[in-house]
Amino acid sequence: MDISVVIPLYNEEESLPELAAWIKRVMDANNFSYEIIMVDDGSKDRSWEVVQALKRENEHVSGVRFRRNYGKSAALNVGFAAAQGDVVITMDADLQDSPDEIPELYDRIKNQGADLVSGWKKKRYDPLTKTIPTKLFNSATRSMSGIDNLHDFNCGLKAYKKDVVKSIEVYGEMHRYIPVLAKWAGFNNIQEQVVQHYPRKYGTTKFGPGRFVKGFLDLMSIFFVGKFAKRPMHFFGPLGVISFLLGIFITIWLICEKLMSIANGTEYRNVTDQPLFYLSLVAILIGSQLFLTGFVAELVSRNGSDRNKYHIDQVI
Ligand code: UDP
Ligand code: MG
Repeated sequence: MDISVVIPLYNEEESLPELAAWIKRVMDANNFSYEIIMVDDGSKDRSWEVVQALKRENEHVSGVRFRRNYGKSAALNVGFAAAQGDVVITMDADLQDSPDEIPELYDRIKNQGADLVSGWKKKRYDPLTKTIPTKLFNSATRSMSGIDNLHDFNCGLKAYKKDVVKSIEVYGEMHRYIPVLAKWAGFNNIQEQVVQHYPRKYGTTKFGPGRFVKGFLDLMSIFFVGKFAKRPMHFFGPLGVISFLLGIFITIWLICEKLMSIANGTEYRNVTDQPLFYLSLVAILIGSQLFLTGFVAELVSRNGSDRNKYHIDQVI
């Protein structure tokens, strides 16, 4: 099979028939053998009925339905596991991405040696409240990940060599940073393709303003994962120990000062009247807290997390 198109969807009933028909036109025109995997991320509207109807019309369509909404990353992960095509293409369900880009994406993977081709919505149709933070995210991701040729990490339209999707796990909110996951998995030929981007035709965006908070947390984990995720103690431990020792040092110093003043018979202030005393308490407390945080993180990272706890309701 040439191409698997993976489409994560959440409440997209109006867009699906148009999208499936458009993909079919492109596939037929180019003689691609293909499948369309629609992953219903727990939609509350009639999306799943629509997927079932589309499957009856077109044998190339298949569907997976989650029992509830687990997020775009989980949906992509399931689609990746099911995909059989040599080239896997992901696309949003809302008609903002254009299936007309598929032949070029395919060619880059198949004939030009790319492992991953990420769409670049150079001219995008989203509100400024979204495009400005996105620009900041993209430049931060560029510098933290070392993938300096991408402008748009989070574009829903991407193409992958099959090996790539079988080697990575998209968890948490990591769909925003899939090129980084690919790089970590050792795939270095990561390219970009300028793609058409349309305004959302039906419905509204499925991500609230919370997207930026989640995106920020994952950006932090991208930064730390490379260095510390497997050994969080290496990060928290030294900070904790430094702070703790500083507190102990100040305390000992205060005690010595007191002992010497007693020995010399000079006047001495109560320890609790010394601002330094409080500083030492704070340093000891912060130090032990940091150390404990590292300890907990260490336990969690050693015992695995619940990255892929999602439940599938139906497969068609
Ligand atoms: N989506 C999903 N699960 C979610 C949220 C979104 O599968 O919890 C899908 C959504 O249906 C769409 C794609 O992810 O196909 C991108 O979502 P959306 O268009 O809302 O994001 P935006 O274009 O605003 O970035
Ligand atoms: Mg969209």
